[in-house]
Amino acid sequence: MSQDPTPGTTGLVMDEPLIFERGQKGRSGFSMPARDVPALEVPDELKGEDPDLPDLSEIEVVRHYTRLSQYNFGVDSGTYPLGSCTMKYNPKINEKLAGLPGFASAHPLAPQSLSQGALRLMFELQDFLGEITGLRGVSLQPAAGAHGEYAGMRIFHAWHRKKGKQRHKVLIPDTAHGTNPASAALCGFRAVPVESNEQGILSAEGVARLMDEDTAGLMVTNPNTLGLFEENIKEIAGAVHAKGGLIYCDGANFNALMGIVDMEATGVDILHLNLHKTFATPHGGGGPGSGPICVTRELEPFLPIPRIVRENDSFALSEDYPDSLGRLHSFYGNFGVMIKAYAYILSLGPLLKSVSQTAVLNANYLKERLKKTLHLPYDRPCMHECVFTDKFQQEFGISTLDIAKGLIDQGYHPPTIYFPLVVQGAMMVEPTESETREDLDSLVLAFERVAEQAREDPDKLHQAPVKTKVKRLDETLAARKPCLTG
Ligand SMILES: *Cc1c(COP(=O)(O)O)cnc(C)c1O
Repeated sequence: MSQDPTPGTTGLVMDEPLIFERGQKGRSGFSMPARDVPALEVPDELKGEDPDLPDLSEIEVVRHYTRLSQYNFGVDSGTYPLGSCTMKYNPKINEKLAGLPGFASAHPLAPQSLSQGALRLMFELQDFLGEITGLRGVSLQPAAGAHGEYAGMRIFHAWHRKKGKQRHKVLIPDTAHGTNPASAALCGFRAVPVESNEQGILSAEGVARLMDEDTAGLMVTNPNTLGLFEENIKEIAGAVHAKGGLIYCDGANFNALMGIVDMEATGVDILHLNLHKTFATPHGGGGPGSGPICVTRELEPFLPIPRIVRENDSFALSEDYPDSLGRLHSFYGNFGVMIKAYAYILSLGPLLKSVSQTAVLNANYLKERLKKTLHLPYDRPCMHECVFTDKFQQEFGISTLDIAKGLIDQGYHPPTIYFPLVVQGAMMVEPTESETREDLDSLVLAFERVAEQAREDPDKLHQAPVKTKVKRLDETLAARKPCLTG
């Protein structure tokens, strides 16, 4: 057995042709019993050319798809430190519960009297999320983080309209995720950038200077995308509220704060969560996701309909909310994701807090161990992630992209790169709570090896990855003229 503590990708990289290039005419993966009824003549108008499908045996099909699946890297294959994505382990018990026949075959058009279990689950999940965030009005309807932001911006709009005067601008920090200004723009607001200070966070004075009576509010991410807690959030919220604005918080990455921070107490009015990040639904393949929004009691009347109401021991859906911004999704959102979040929260209970504590500890451990190897622009305690740059490697002509590609040869998925935009050559590393001490140590070793290669053989590092099925791509060409055969 290898003594190397990093799980590299040497050996057995499968070569797999297209399924159309496999097989032989006449081969088959099944056998049928002899027909015991007369053959039917197919009418001429239904006759056409036979589709040109490959003829394959069962094992050829199994091997084809199993080999293709091995080209993929996932949380279940190894450490996946992709910042801002919270690629944590998703316990299999959640999948098992989401697959229970009563849930999996529930029909959204079934009468409410036959859907009491599903309604109760959603009602209780709303309560849990209200408890975890401190914001007690919850809607599970938005289907993704960006959809939650959209719902939040619609509430900004509806609230100002109700107050009698529409506003046209929203303040958005320069570290924000790209979906923030996009969601604000989609609701007719102009995004006004707010610069972060030399500590990588917002200052109350900076926000107060920009806040005026045509500004609907501030869209802030906390912890921000540098992995830093916005320490001045209460003063910032005070400045925005004083001018009649609202605070929206992008809580896509809530993994540092569960059971620790009451968001309402920090002055936040609206927040979205990504159940498919923090609350253990697998993601990265394009969905389905769930981006619930949590609001103060004051903003609750604006939440999307239908809302789940409790009458004694039964649950019902109600549309009787005249100020509601209406419906944002068919039926109630992505129910399967809600079941997994519900199971995750119930299985951890008060231990959710230690999930956050461990996520923060792991990120700080990596930060301290890696800061000799990679330049750390903000050397302060971080939350669930930290951001490095390629500054130490530039003298060898090595960039963030080369380091990311080099990590692939060491057997790791690269971190998020070139984001947030305020840090040149950013590498955003988020270990999550699921990684063991040994996993973290071998990730550090992998980074150290790449840094060594940068010093000693930069030309070779420019070619990385070399151990994978697909080698270094011309990124522009790969996007414009994708070659799907690998
Ligand atoms: C992931 C993420 C989003 C968007 O979430 P989607 O579900 O992909 O729409 C928004 N903000 C931040 C900070 C994120 O990390």
